[in-house]
Amino acid sequence: MNTTKIGWIGLGNMGIPMAEQLLKADYAVTIYNRSKDKEAALKEIGALIAGTPKELIAVTDVVIIMVSDDAAIEQIFKGPEGLLSAEISGKIMINMSTVSPAISKEMDTLCKEKGAQYLDAPVSGSVKQAETGQLVIMVGGDETAFEQVKPMLEKMGKMAVRLGDTGAGNVAKLAINSLLALYTQGLAETVVFANQQGIETEDLLNLLNNGAIANIFTKIKGDAIIADNYKPAFALKHIVKDLTLAKAIGLDSPLAKTALNTFEEATAKYGEEDLIAVIKHVKE
Ligand code: NAP
Repeated sequence: MNTTKIGWIGLGNMGIPMAEQLLKADYAVTIYNRSKDKEAALKEIGALIAGTPKELIAVTDVVIIMVSDDAAIEQIFKGPEGLLSAEISGKIMINMSTVSPAISKEMDTLCKEKGAQYLDAPVSGSVKQAETGQLVIMVGGDETAFEQVKPMLEKMGKMAVRLGDTGAGNVAKLAINSLLALYTQGLAETVVFANQQGIETEDLLNLLNNGAIANIFTKIKGDAIIADNYKPAFALKHIVKDLTLAKAIGLDSPLAKTALNTFEEATAKYGEEDLIAVIKHVKE
């Protein structure tokens, strides 16, 4: 058993398979989730359960957070039973959610005031990569704290790289997800255009997946389009959040503006489905 005790907050599409990697690597993991119906699977493989973030941090050395957005982070740190209401001196918080660099800087300051460290460590990759410990992890914050937690990050990812001070990981992640949005809209529009001109989806994707611009994303999302399966690995509403955060820190290009507009329009109907459900909006 590894001696570092880990607290895990957030059991969504990503949080469950990521925490599972740590349990499999023989870490002691205590979990907390806002709604209580998602804890069972991890409990079965050895996770302990805490009732609040405050309770969770009292029994752990490192707390990892994987929740939706800035509002969730506020709640988890600053809520009445939040992390900052506890004694946190000497502990390390790792926020792996895709959030703004501004909220990371605020939480970093608040943690430092209480003698704790904060790292932003968002991830590239989706549920499949989370299930196999193959995420790409980008980190901002104190170098010594990063080196201390790198072994556990490497249980969840094939690489964990520190890019600079607090917020640097968040900025890199927002840049990557801007490309994800442009690419997803481009893929959807390409399939719809080819269909309109009489080319079958399967035939087009077969060519794309064997051609010069083949990539794993097109393979996975192409299979989803063919199967008409829009079960969320990455919910469409989250890409609206990410493009909005990127815009707030200065992304103002013509393509990014178009993508934000498209995904915003698609959210009302398809926000809870996978982001490639944007193809249904493009068709309409
Ligand atoms: P998700 O399935 O929507 O899960 C969101 C999690 O956040 C749930 O545990 C939810 O709790 C919790 N949460 C939301 N609001 C909260 C609040 N106010 N207080 C406390 N907890 C709150 O999201 P996900 O797909 O796992 O993604 C998590 C993060 O990783 C997001 O920032 C996302 O952008 C990023 N990300 C996702 C992917 C992907 O492919 N899915 C890939 C890379 C990065 P409840 O269960 O109570 O709702």
